[in-house]
Amino acid sequence: MVSSDPRVILEPAQAVPVLLDVDVVVVGGGTTGPLAAICAARQGASVALVERFGSLGGTLTLGLNTKPSGALAGGLPVELWNLARAQGGAGRDYVARLGKSGGTLTIASPADPDVMKLLLVKLCREAGVRLVFEAFVSRPILEGCRIGGVIIEGKGGRQAIRAKVAIDCSADGDIAAKAGAPFIVGTGGENPAMQPVSVYFTMRHVDLERLGTWVWEHPDNVADRGARPERKEDYAYGLWLAGFNKPIQDFQRRTGIKLYRERITLKSTNGELYVNATRVLNVSGLSTLEISDAIVECYRQIEAYARFLKEDVPGCEKATLGVIAPVLGVRETRHILGDYVLTGDDVMTGARFEDSIAADNSALDIHDVSGADTDFRSLPPYEIPYRCLVPQGVEQLLVAGRCISVDHIAHGRARNMPACMAEGQAAGIAAAVAIRTETTVRAVDVRRVQRVLADMKMPIHADQIVPA
Ligand SMILES: Cc1cc2nc3c(=O)[nH]c(=O)nc-3n(C[C@H](O)[C@H](O)[C@H](O)COP(=O)(O)OP(=O)(O)OC[C@H]3O[C@@H](n4cnc5c(N)ncnc54)[C@H](O)[C@@H]3O)c2cc1C
Repeated sequence: MVSSDPRVILEPAQAVPVLLDVDVVVVGGGTTGPLAAICAARQGASVALVERFGSLGGTLTLGLNTKPSGALAGGLPVELWNLARAQGGAGRDYVARLGKSGGTLTIASPADPDVMKLLLVKLCREAGVRLVFEAFVSRPILEGCRIGGVIIEGKGGRQAIRAKVAIDCSADGDIAAKAGAPFIVGTGGENPAMQPVSVYFTMRHVDLERLGTWVWEHPDNVADRGARPERKEDYAYGLWLAGFNKPIQDFQRRTGIKLYRERITLKSTNGELYVNATRVLNVSGLSTLEISDAIVECYRQIEAYARFLKEDVPGCEKATLGVIAPVLGVRETRHILGDYVLTGDDVMTGARFEDSIAADNSALDIHDVSGADTDFRSLPPYEIPYRCLVPQGVEQLLVAGRCISVDHIAHGRARNMPACMAEGQAAGIAAAVAIRTETTVRAVDVRRVQRVLADMKMPIHADQIVPA
């Protein structure tokens, strides 16, 4: 409807049909959401998982990310990776030497994205999760400040899913923000900055062994690298290389092409080379037009980096462009403020919490907001308190994944996939336990949640993590 304000139009109120009525609705089927859904369903809750695309895994699969930057400590993430390994969809974990910051880091093997998509759907189905694909969750249903479900938009039009608990795994905290939970964006403040965005791509027909040989013969070019694969077959999943600053500077000088990132990361997944190289600064992952323009710029950079690899990196001479991720990789947007806000100090010093739901061993990985070199470091394990999953001011809502309650520095650690998956797992269990014990997710007895996690062999305290 036309409004007197030309900047807006008015939508008429409408009756929205109820599609499903469940105990738990999980918003977003990315890295985190499927684990939340599977765990809630395994604990006896009826669960719907809503995902805007037609596959599961989000940044892990569609985003071509494939590699958790840290060890998977236990629980469902380890179950998943073992299943992937059993069908050739992942390799052995490896220990990376970080030449730039010093120290070593255990890195879980990359997993083949399509194997992972199949596995996530299979485990959801086996647990009884109702998958709702190709549907965008547009807003929460609120009864006062209590969540009563969500509204989805899909080919079936606008429909409602009623639920006793919602778990926001949308990465951006879409539903928590619309429900009125407080949040900061990126670094916070009036002019917040966020970590840059990227589009992943792959290169096919790379001679991975030749690339490896060159790297170990010229180690100065690649400051951080996983251990050299011992056997030919270990190359398929075993190559992790971060650096190339000097060759990229030379390439820019020679060609006149401007690139915005000199420390790039190459890793092998199922025999292909996955390239994390593109970078666009000052993009809000909450702005439709900024996302669109960033994808266009990443495409320009993909052509340039593919040329760099072919012309300047031994082993890539016969390579061709493989897959371009069909989705922009957004590292940081909203941090929903919960009953506790995890700080940079907490993750640097290995903080401990009584209500911990996961001990995390991920790297600190901060892509500088103004484009300086990435701060990638191995640190002692820290703990993630349950309160970081419980947003302030809204009842029956949990957040898990990239949008949990952290500051900008803590996000640099907790955004990694081992942490996100562990949070999803805990949020799903907490939602089911709260429903079963007839209490709210805020008041749930965290010790019960911890007992379920312990039964799943998930370390919840830092001293339970087995050192590499
Ligand atoms: C380029 C890049 C490289 C990275 N490299 C690494 C790395 O090497 N190692 C590491 O451990 N971590 C890395 N990270 C970080 C890590 O991958 C992410 O922080 C993590 O995967 C986020 O998980 P998530 O579940 O919160 O979000 P996602 O995996 O992005 O999942 C969110 C899901 O929600 C869906 N969704 C969103 N909004 C809605 C909605 N309103 N309705 C319905 N569905 C919705 C999306 O389609 C998506 O499937 C990287 C991130 C990026 C962007």
